[in-house]
Amino acid sequence: MDNELIKILLIDDDEDDFVMTRDILAEAENLGHELEWISTYQEALGSIAENRHDVYILDFRLGEKTGLELLTEAAANGSRAPFILLTGQGDRETDIQAMKAGAADYLVKGDINAPLLERSIRYAIERKRNEEDVFRMAYYDSLTRLPNRTLFLDRLFQAISQAERHESMFAIMFLDIDNFKRINDTFGHAVGDRLLIAITERLHSTMRKSDSVARQTIKDMFARLGGDEFTVLLHEVKHVENAAKVAQRIIDVLSLPFTLEGTEIFITASIGISIFPQDGRDVDDLLKNADAAMYHAKEQGKNNYQYYRQAMNASAFEKLTLENTLRKAVENDELVLHYQPQFDITTGKITGLEALIRWDHPEKGLIPPVKFIPLAEETGIIFPMSEWVLKTASRQCNIWKDAGHKDIPISVNISSRHFQHRNLVKSISESLSQAGINPNDMMIEITESAIMQDTETVLLTLSELADMGMRMILDDFGTGYSSLSYLKRFPIHALKIDRSFTSEISADPEEALIARAIISLARNLKMLVIAEGVETGQQLRYLQDYGCNEIQGYLFSRPLPTDDITEMLAAEKEGRGVGRKILDNIMGNKTETPVP
Ligand code: C2E
Ligand code: MG
Ligand code: MG
Repeated sequence: MDNELIKILLIDDDEDDFVMTRDILAEAENLGHELEWISTYQEALGSIAENRHDVYILDFRLGEKTGLELLTEAAANGSRAPFILLTGQGDRETDIQAMKAGAADYLVKGDINAPLLERSIRYAIERKRNEEDVFRMAYYDSLTRLPNRTLFLDRLFQAISQAERHESMFAIMFLDIDNFKRINDTFGHAVGDRLLIAITERLHSTMRKSDSVARQTIKDMFARLGGDEFTVLLHEVKHVENAAKVAQRIIDVLSLPFTLEGTEIFITASIGISIFPQDGRDVDDLLKNADAAMYHAKEQGKNNYQYYRQAMNASAFEKLTLENTLRKAVENDELVLHYQPQFDITTGKITGLEALIRWDHPEKGLIPPVKFIPLAEETGIIFPMSEWVLKTASRQCNIWKDAGHKDIPISVNISSRHFQHRNLVKSISESLSQAGINPNDMMIEITESAIMQDTETVLLTLSELADMGMRMILDDFGTGYSSLSYLKRFPIHALKIDRSFTSEISADPEEALIARAIISLARNLKMLVIAEGVETGQQLRYLQDYGCNEIQGYLFSRPLPTDDITEMLAAEKEGRGVGRKILDNIMGNKTETPVP
């Protein structure tokens, strides 16, 4: 430290005192230094926060405040360098106060000379460094410089109390390098040590970027418990499977070869995960369970991660895999639309086609939307997916129009998540114009619960669409508790009675109160009514009696691939309409016609 340039910050509101201190320091020939002077409390706090100095010399009196206050506040902010306090005259009381506040030394202005000041500065710095060394030795691993067990446990305590306060989840992981002993035996301990350092560097590279650094007192951290055992603290996990993502990332980076002494070394790791609060509410349980999960990972053949809860392993894995493959499905064109016709309840004519998405999975075959729409919504995949639906349906609509089927609009289901997106109106109108169809060739289906979620935004969007000339259908109606006054404000063309109310008709037609209420409600609001899920002739007849306008369901047609619909449309054009045929059948002989 003899040849080092010592950076000194002098905090003193009196310029004469600054000049005096500067001159004394100039006399201290052996003390290579750089002196900076600041005269106000606030400026001083700012400068201390930058942690650029090796020592602070501060006046006891700083305008309204005292040097002691500054010292206390700076220490609370985590200042690193030592403080030397200057005062006009010495007294025991100030001395004690200064030491209590954490000052390294305390000097009386009139008594200072060069050797005294130099000694004080050197001592202060030296002592601070020793303190830091002691801290480092107590809390950090000397080989990898990672936090050690003691510091990890301390942070784990903090994480628990923070998570209890915020009612949040976090994860800890136990990570063990597979067959590390063999590396030590083969290459020697020196190489083993270097490998541990290299592993640590790789671990750092997998750290999640913290989104709100300022507010978080607890950050993600790695620690080395000893040997080849590491732990990870993931301070906040919103979804349990996020821990799996990090674990997989760690396994992936560790599986790349390490080059040490010109040899390539391959390693794998086993990881156990436990989640607060479900796998333990205290330090012991969390650690014990992460450890147990890690042993389970070893039993599973190593080179993998396991949650403590067995059920989570399968579901997290499935969900992650599904998310990845779903993303690819959109890119790889694995999505298909089927279309289900709607029929006029009296003429049997096709009045429209509902586009229903399916995922044509290369191995699993056709996957229905209930299996992937919720995940698509959660992950945002719904946006590109929805765009694809709009484009594909628009193009198909144009093809059928060209074939001469003019008045058969296609209705498209839009999820509530997409309805809250500003871009929706634009992407709808782009799909229409690119395909060369008109706004009244397409209808939008939105569920009743979706309009209840963010009424004002949805109302605005619906109004824009209505102004363009589009018609909207309120889907799954009867399940969403919308009030009449709301309903009146929305530009809605038709209500679609939810399937559950249609099926009530078969149980007891006289008691099918909701279906009947919806139909008369729609009448009063001058909207059309479509019944979905019509499966039996009995349901059809009652719906006719109640005054329902249109029907959709397996009784008439299941959702069908494009080619089948093309045939169906052509048949109807030639007077062989499927709807008419079924109506005649049922209305002709009043017996029950079961669904095939
Ligand atoms: P939804 O819009 O209410 O569609 C009607 C669902 O009922 C369809 O299921 C249809 O196949 C089924 N269905 C029709 N007739 C009958 C019947 O007689 N009996 C029975 N048991 N079921 C019948 P699907 O195709 O599995 O779609 C389920 C839901 O997935 C849809 O409900 C819709 O909310 C959603 N969905 C489908 N395609 C899309 C899409 O492109 N985008 C979005 N956001 N959601 C979609
Ligand atoms: Mg629908
Ligand atoms: Mg529906």
